[in-house]
Amino acid sequence: MVGAGPAGLRAARAAALGGARTLVLDKADAVGVPVRTSGGSFVTELDRLGVPARLYHPVTRLRFVGPRSEAVYDYPEPVACVLDVRGLYQHLAQEAIAAGAALRLRARVEEPVLTGGAATGVRFRDGLSGEACEARARVVVDASGHAALVARRAGGHPGFPSVGYGAELDLFAPGFDEREAVLLVGSQVAPRGYAWAFPHGGGRVRLGVGVTRPHTDLDPRAYLETVAARVPGLRGASPVEVHTGLVPAAAPDGAPLVAHGLLVVGDAAGQASSLVGEGIRYVMRAGDLAGGVAAGAVRAGDASRGFLERYARAWQREFGRDLRVAHAVHERLVSYDDAAWEERMPLLRAIPPGPFARLLAGDFSPGLLLELGTRHPRLLATAGRLAAAGVGRRVNSALTGGGSRPSPPLSGPDSGGTG
Ligand SMILES: Cc1cc2nc3c(=O)[nH]c(=O)nc-3n(C[C@H](O)[C@H](O)[C@H](O)COP(=O)(O)OP(=O)(O)OC[C@H]3O[C@@H](n4cnc5c(N)ncnc54)[C@H](O)[C@@H]3O)c2cc1C
Repeated sequence: MVGAGPAGLRAARAAALGGARTLVLDKADAVGVPVRTSGGSFVTELDRLGVPARLYHPVTRLRFVGPRSEAVYDYPEPVACVLDVRGLYQHLAQEAIAAGAALRLRARVEEPVLTGGAATGVRFRDGLSGEACEARARVVVDASGHAALVARRAGGHPGFPSVGYGAELDLFAPGFDEREAVLLVGSQVAPRGYAWAFPHGGGRVRLGVGVTRPHTDLDPRAYLETVAARVPGLRGASPVEVHTGLVPAAAPDGAPLVAHGLLVVGDAAGQASSLVGEGIRYVMRAGDLAGGVAAGAVRAGDASRGFLERYARAWQREFGRDLRVAHAVHERLVSYDDAAWEERMPLLRAIPPGPFARLLAGDFSPGLLLELGTRHPRLLATAGRLAAAGVGRRVNSALTGGGSRPSPPLSGPDSGGTG
């Protein structure tokens, strides 16, 4: 496994539970450090993944702030939550180790070892001694985040045509109402993106701005002060940590998941939902699927692309449709100016709290779209368009399949992963 983020750690756990000798390499000094994510997520989905409730802070109100008006959704029971990111990642590391995986930190992977076109290991450098090392493996899992280091060097990963670039302050803000999470849109706070204030307990609030490249060259850091001025309860607040990070805003079929001897998982495979750049629970599930198939390949003595394709198929079955719709919606939303947002605010206010949270969570199931369609004539048309977007073309799931444009050079934060 290359990368000890949520994708790599879940894959390691599943592979080890499946009986495979498993090694995770990460260039960092510590799991979950630095934090490069705001940790917004959903309670039901995290419960399903076995994440203990002590590792997230639940919220009971979502406030969506447009350029001139807002929509507020209240929940009798918490639906959304904000993760203790470092706590969760270290918990996942412990679970992987308990299952039998070994973890090696300060191990910077430099390139894959290729034998007859198949990945059969990686070369890495020990961060302390500087020594060049090699690890051989029946199956290599690239979970290196948006850099997709192994998959790119193995030859076929085209890179991501579009990425979200986020800047965030982790504030101590005791005056903030910890029951609510705030999302903000509009040219004053996040042109071609959105801003957020996510409480994660103990008076701490992650305040961030994310924009999408190449749709804009604007620097999200320039907007943080304006956002802070618009969010209630931040008087006297001050940052305790500063974060930046990149997340692919990829079409779900645009990045390769499989090659000979290689599985690609998490941000490396563009598996976050591009709707709001939410990835953690998706990549954990992808890790479960990839690790299970990796162990199966080791048991069967067959690491061919044909065998490993089981992972790509399982992923597509579970998430392909919803992520396709999420990407289509994202592509539309990044074009909105302030007038377009304000025109749609009454429509957003017509959506009841439950369905609003489901949409935010990337649930575009026909049942939900049908329910929305009965609420408002304009929602009916929107629901129809969303349903149509889900029936898009499945592109390549193998490294050699092609189909995506090459990635532009990334700019902004260092490219050291988003974990
Ligand atoms: C600003 C921002 C806000 C976000 N907000 C949310 C949110 O609210 N909710 C949500 O669910 N998701 C959010 N995301 C997305 C989420 O962070 C990612 O989808 C998730 O972290 C992907 O996990 P991963 O394991 O695939 O990759 P990462 O978490 O990036 O982990 C990759 C790991 O690989 C290691 N690595 C990289 N290169 C090498 C190498 N050469 N050798 C060895 N190790 C290497 C890195 O050190 C890192 O530990 C956000 C992302 C950003 C950037």
